[in-house]
Amino acid sequence: MDFKDYIRVIPDFPQPGISFKDITTLLKNGEAYRSSINELKKMVEHLKIDVIAGPEARGFVVGAPLAYALGVGFTPIRKSGKLPYETIEVGYDLEYGKDKLAMHTDAIEKGQNVLIADDLLATGGTIATSVNLVRQLGGNVVGAAFMIELTELNGRDKLQGIDVFTLMHYE
Ligand code: IMP
Repeated sequence: MDFKDYIRVIPDFPQPGISFKDITTLLKNGEAYRSSINELKKMVEHLKIDVIAGPEARGFVVGAPLAYALGVGFTPIRKSGKLPYETIEVGYDLEYGKDKLAMHTDAIEKGQNVLIADDLLATGGTIATSVNLVRQLGGNVVGAAFMIELTELNGRDKLQGIDVFTLMHYE
C-alpha cells in the first residue's frame, strides 16, 4: 500500500509557505490506518519498548494504537496546563510558533525504554523536547517513530543518536 495516496497536502496552511500534510484522510480509511500502524509496528518491534510517549494531539493517534499493537504502555506528552498531577515542563519553538510541553513526573519509571511517536517530523523541535522530557524523568529513549518525515527540514539532526523510523518522506 502506498500510504502517500491517503495523505492530503494543503498549501499555505496554517500560514503562507507551509505545505501541510493532512493525515485525517489516511485515518478515516480503516484499512490504511491499520496498515500504517502495523507497518510502524514491524519497524520498531525489535526494540525492547516499555512505554510509548506521544505529544498531543496527533502523537496520540499514532502512539496509542502502536502501543496497543505492541502490548506496551502509552503516556501522553501534553501542552502546559492540561495534565492534572505534578508535571515537568520544557519550552520549545515550533515550525510555526512557540509552545511548552509537559509530562507527569511519574509517567515513566527510571530506566524504562521509551519510544516516542508522532504523526510527523518537521524541524524536530517537538520531538527533541519530548526526548528532553523523557530523559529528565530517567527514561531511556530507544527510538522515534513517525508516519511522515519532512526531510528538507532536517529534524533528524536534532535526534542524533536516536533511531528514527518513518513510513513516508516528503521534501
Ligand atoms: P516539528 O516540531 O517542527 O518537528 O513539528 C512537528 C509537529 O508539528 C508535529 O507534532 C506535527 O503534528 C506538527 N506539524 C508540523 N507540520 C505539519 C504538517 O505538515 N502536517 C501535520 N502536522 C504538522
